[in-house]
Amino acid sequence: MTSDPGTYVLVLHCRAAASVQVGRWGDLRLHRGYYLYVGSAFGPGGVRARVGRHCRNEKSLHWHIDYLRAYAKLVNVWLTYDVRRREHQWATVLGQDDRVQPIPGFGCTDCDCESHLFYTNHRPVLAQFSLSSEGGLECLTCTDFADVSARSPSCR
Ligand SMILES: [Zn+2]
Repeated sequence: MTSDPGTYVLVLHCRAAASVQVGRWGDLRLHRGYYLYVGSAFGPGGVRARVGRHCRNEKSLHWHIDYLRAYAKLVNVWLTYDVRRREHQWATVLGQDDRVQPIPGFGCTDCDCESHLFYTNHRPVLAQFSLSSEGGLECLTCTDFADVSARSPSCR
């Protein structure tokens, strides 16, 4: 992974039901299963900085997703370095997919999307979703982000 900008999906695994107070957003009821969160990294440090932050367990809770991340394991990251910002398009695609269920109003306070967070009880696989990008899509783990010399992204 590089410091270039890009768009990503965090695949989070929640092992048990929980109720999480997400800042001023409110109470998020988590179910056992998987959550997909769509975001983008077009700021300083690009993808490496932003997704690296999502991978770290110890951090201040700033974004909505940080509160969920504190309860869930980040199992995979789906990533594109497409120079076009894809997050809202991807959120729309996921919102139309029957296999995932949107959590209305989460992560989308600055856009018109229904949600940027989706739930599914089965482990999602990147190839199952038609997320468009130019330059391809990669599936990575936090181990890949910890080892900056890693050349072959891997999903385990
Ligand atoms: Zn959006």
